[in-house]
Amino acid sequence: SAKAAGRRQWRHYQPVLQTGLVERHELNEHLDTAIAESAFKLYYQPVVDLRTGDLVAFEALVRWPHDRRGMVLPDEFISLAEESGQIVPLGAWVLERAAQEAAVWHAESSAVRAATGRPPLRVNVNVSARQFRDAGFVDVVRHAVDVSGIDPRALVLELTESVLMRRDDRVHTDMRTLDDLGVGIAIDDFGTGYSSLSYLREFPISILKIDKSFIDGLGVSQQQYALVEGIVRIADTLGVQVIAEGIEQPEQRDLLAAMGCPLGQGYLFAHPLTPDQARTLVRDTTYEPA
Ligand code: C2E
Ligand code: MG
Ligand code: MG
Ligand code: MG
Repeated sequence: SAKAAGRRQWRHYQPVLQTGLVERHELNEHLDTAIAESAFKLYYQPVVDLRTGDLVAFEALVRWPHDRRGMVLPDEFISLAEESGQIVPLGAWVLERAAQEAAVWHAESSAVRAATGRPPLRVNVNVSARQFRDAGFVDVVRHAVDVSGIDPRALVLELTESVLMRRDDRVHTDMRTLDDLGVGIAIDDFGTGYSSLSYLREFPISILKIDKSFIDGLGVSQQQYALVEGIVRIADTLGVQVIAEGIEQPEQRDLLAAMGCPLGQGYLFAHPLTPDQARTLVRDTTYEPA
């Protein structure tokens, strides 16, 4: 398929961070132009209910179509944009675009989903630490909600543990403001950083995403299995929803469903989709009540 061919192609591009200073400088300038022209694309990866297979959310994942480098993946430019501060306008664009796309899904599916007892499809948006720390961040979120008209409860911000580690007043205040707005907060890549379950008590966290590295070890190591099961159980006790990341094998899905992990994401279900593919999926999975 074109998608598979595209993926093969991406591997040929030199990692940006290993390129020379001159090229790096050049890339920064290109990034500036790309931000000014909103030349990025968002892909959307489904999050599914592990018991029923029902679609519950999409995670927005940014890509940069670059004339010489092809489709550049976020690992190649997000850290560069963080260092330069360009992540602030780029992140604002991502939030607004994703919220607008979600509003389209809602127009197509909300009535039927409500009639069948399902909440509106959520959209998960990645937010980097630098972006969260910017003084205007909460206003950017408010603006994205206002202009798109989406129900704020359908918007989830994915933060990494590096944001929560700082524990200063601003982080607490902004978290509370976002929570009051109705916006959900997820901890992304849980288990890879300075993981602490006390974050779940200290901050208004609604979702915990268990990193792929734990899911990889599920069927292999008894210890990994016990660890994941423990996290799922504690999260459940605290009323926090769990998403298992990077599920590739049916066996991993079965083990997770059996231990009561509610949600999952991974190539087993779907790769990140283009906006058109995502809309088609929304349409196809929105059935009329019997
Ligand atoms: P993430 O938020 O943890 O997103 C999951 C990454 O794993 C995505 O890579 C996704 O395509 C990939 N993935 C999903 N399922 C599987 C699977 O079953 N197997 C494997 N091997 N991979 C899977 P992607 O799109 O390249 O994004 C990489 C990271 O870049 C993201 O990790 C996130 O930290 C960051 N990122 C992406 N979009 C944005 C954005 O708009 N803003 C910010 N600040 N960061 C972003
Ligand atoms: Mg994420
Ligand atoms: Mg993740
Ligand atoms: Mg990640």
